[in-house]
Amino acid sequence: MNSPANKATDSNTAADTKVSNFLRQIIEKDLEQGTYASRRWAGSPGDAAHHAAGEPDPAKIRTRFPPEPNGYLHVGHAKSICINFGLAKEYGGVCHLRFDDTNPEKEDTEYVNSIIDAVKWLGFDWSQPGNDKAYQASDYFDFMYCAAEALIQAGHAYVDEQSAEDMRANRGDFGKPGVDSPFRSRTVAENLTRFREMRDGKLDDGAAVLRAKIDMASPNINMRDPAIYRIRRATHHHTGDKWCIYPMYTFAHPIEDALEQITHSICTLEFEDQRPFYDWLMDRLCECGLLAAPSPKQYEFARLNLTYVITSKRKLAQLVNEGKVSGWDDPRMPTIVGLRRRGYTPTSLRLFADRIGVTKSDSWIDYSTLEGCLREDLENKAHRGMAVLDPVKLVLTNWAEAFGSDAHTEACTQPALPHSAVAEGQTPPADRTFQIGKEVWIEREDFEEVPPKGYKRLFPGNVVRLKGGYVIECTGCARDAAGHVTEVHAKVIPGTKSGTPGADSVKAKAAITWVSVMDGVPAEVRLYDRLFAEAHPDAGGKDFLQSLNPDSLKVVTAYVEPSLAGAQPDQKFQFERFGYFVADRLDHVAGAKPVFNRVTGLKDSWGK
Ligand code: ATP
Ligand code: MG
Repeated sequence: MNSPANKATDSNTAADTKVSNFLRQIIEKDLEQGTYASRRWAGSPGDAAHHAAGEPDPAKIRTRFPPEPNGYLHVGHAKSICINFGLAKEYGGVCHLRFDDTNPEKEDTEYVNSIIDAVKWLGFDWSQPGNDKAYQASDYFDFMYCAAEALIQAGHAYVDEQSAEDMRANRGDFGKPGVDSPFRSRTVAENLTRFREMRDGKLDDGAAVLRAKIDMASPNINMRDPAIYRIRRATHHHTGDKWCIYPMYTFAHPIEDALEQITHSICTLEFEDQRPFYDWLMDRLCECGLLAAPSPKQYEFARLNLTYVITSKRKLAQLVNEGKVSGWDDPRMPTIVGLRRRGYTPTSLRLFADRIGVTKSDSWIDYSTLEGCLREDLENKAHRGMAVLDPVKLVLTNWAEAFGSDAHTEACTQPALPHSAVAEGQTPPADRTFQIGKEVWIEREDFEEVPPKGYKRLFPGNVVRLKGGYVIECTGCARDAAGHVTEVHAKVIPGTKSGTPGADSVKAKAAITWVSVMDGVPAEVRLYDRLFAEAHPDAGGKDFLQSLNPDSLKVVTAYVEPSLAGAQPDQKFQFERFGYFVADRLDHVAGAKPVFNRVTGLKDSWGK
């Protein structure tokens, strides 16, 4: 950060080529073998009979992104969104947005709307011919209930009324097989009656559960008669008080997939142990004719772990609730609304998802990878501009002598994008214009009365260029009683203005950034940094609040050139030498009240 007129140097990454991964291989094989070629699609989700009456499915594959609407999405969800929507797009399929709202207690329409916004903002779309609806799992409650009765009828489910403690004890553990519940041998008729009583509110919350009847000795504990329905008197944000029993996630999720004719149900690794139950349930419900074959299949990938970042919704909520950040959209939050406000672009997040790829083993991605993707996206797009973040006044003491009057000003122009950023055949954007006069703002660190070794900027006797303006020779400074530099003094060398024939007549040791006192605009600049000072803030059950970075936000009053002050909210810039900044979406007012957020520096400088 010390060398003036720093130029972005990390544009060495090649164009995007799709790298194969295990999910692409599975899909390509399924397409080749026609695994799902016989599927039909009735235009909306439904059971076997519904789809049988439909047309052959025009979508080659169907994937889904199934968030629980109980919080704001974060960068990990962005990975999942890019995978699911990305694969569908790539292979001529459709990706469904489905709200997994089967848990009545924690859900809210505020979250539903924020999820819709996030997916659209990332550039994805779930619409298909004749249908642009997002689905919600609660629409399938009636079918789920019927499916549960069908399992009972076929002898595959029973109502268990053991106490919670007994049920837990009888499940066994990794070394010990489970013990059959005394209710396991109930007759079909008895189970049906009891299940209907559960539904009709005749039993208390927690008094009974419906369990799949599979194998209490299975080495996979998830197959030891998992609970599939529970009693829970709670008002659901969508179905209200219609139900007092709700399906368990492990039962609901495969059914949601099947009703929507999903082909590839992609989830994170923690669901791997649930896959045998997923397949068991699909097979049973196909056998009894309720669901259309072929069934969806579940595939697991490693979730995103990002250094210096927390991706647990619960912990993110804690940061918000305890006032450690200003809200879900605080620019330091890894939520999609936070990343967006920070200045991350949809392209940079999609590039990030591509770059980190899809694997089957857990690993950590370095935060600098995300920053690198942003730089790569903005390198050739973000207009350049000068800002002085830690201003001290520079007075050109011979100004009147050189130009006839202290009030004299001159217009300077600089390209909005460097030549190298403009593709061949493309028209470059209009130049920026700003004034130079007797007084300009420069960075305090650009003057040293006694220069350290190798210092090339302003010190008495040294010659530097005001970038895009004149070459000047430093003569000294003024100090206050406490010894602080209050003004830096220099002489302008006439005839050396950038872009004029004499520009190179005097050799400058460095070019420094500046903003003129005359047309520079004061701006609030929020210098954000990583929210956590440790790479793994919540590793090993550590209290993550102890790792908060005390310097994650520093607010300064800067001076910015007119082209920056007139920015539109959400417009991104490269502040020369400092990095990428965005006009804050909410607080910035063009011209009147400029507010900028630092997205990231020009280079990965963390810890260096
Ligand atoms: P959290 O643990 O933060 O509450 P979640 O997994 O409970 O997240 P859901 O709303 O259920 O959140 O997630 C929707 C989808 O996003 C799921 O398919 C889930 O696997 C995926 N997902 C969640 N976190 C990550 C992550 N860190 N990396 C990749 N995918 C993720
Ligand atoms: Mg979840």
